[in-house]
Amino acid sequence: MKNYSIAIDGPSGAGKSTLARALAEKLGFLYADTGAIYRTVGLSALRAGIDPKDEQAVAARLPELDIELIHADDGLQHMILNGEDVTEQIRTPEVSMAASAVAAHPSVRAFLLDTQRDLAKKHSVVMDGRDIGTVVLPDADLKIFMSADIQQRAWRRTIELAERGTPKPYEEVLEEMEQRDRDDATRDVAPLRQAEDAVPLNNSHLTIQETVETAEQLIRERLGL
Ligand code: C5P
Repeated sequence: MKNYSIAIDGPSGAGKSTLARALAEKLGFLYADTGAIYRTVGLSALRAGIDPKDEQAVAARLPELDIELIHADDGLQHMILNGEDVTEQIRTPEVSMAASAVAAHPSVRAFLLDTQRDLAKKHSVVMDGRDIGTVVLPDADLKIFMSADIQQRAWRRTIELAERGTPKPYEEVLEEMEQRDRDDATRDVAPLRQAEDAVPLNNSHLTIQETVETAEQLIRERLGL
């Protein structure tokens, strides 16, 4: 049976993971969160006392990293770093910034490319990230480029951090988000940009349910599912 792939790209806080998870559940596909993989590399650099911006130092450690993605029965993706489940630890604001820094290194992106492509070879996937439609899965069956106003995205992230028990003031979240947007969009390798054949989906004024319905409609039209 053919494996289908749906690529969802966009800036942080645009609602990619919420949409991707909902779609994966409805379709019975695997949800692949690629940001979590970059976060795991970022966490390992911080733990080793390495500056995530130092490509040479980060690259030198890559061969020692054993990164596994485990999809539990609950549909959640767990990240395992050298045998340790770091799913919770990779969600702090510090790790967000470290992930963005390590993601700018060509060596890191090359190291993680096969892991991501292998997932799509073995399963039907809804994969979210920044370069899924442009680099990782250029032949995806459907590409969605999500966006939302930055104030809206920063609010969503502020609420998410508070719910996780790691609150942070809105102004700081907004500032870090602007910084990450800039870094992700201006880096030399795999910058965040909309693939030419991606369908844009701005959900600033849509509820989660409306966003999911819009995407489902696209999937029905495109994949005939
Ligand atoms: O999506 P998330 O916020 O978890 O991603 C963390 C960081 O990982 C992003 O800021 C981005 O720099 C990087 N990333 C990437 N390419 C992807 C997914 C994430 O560069 N496909």
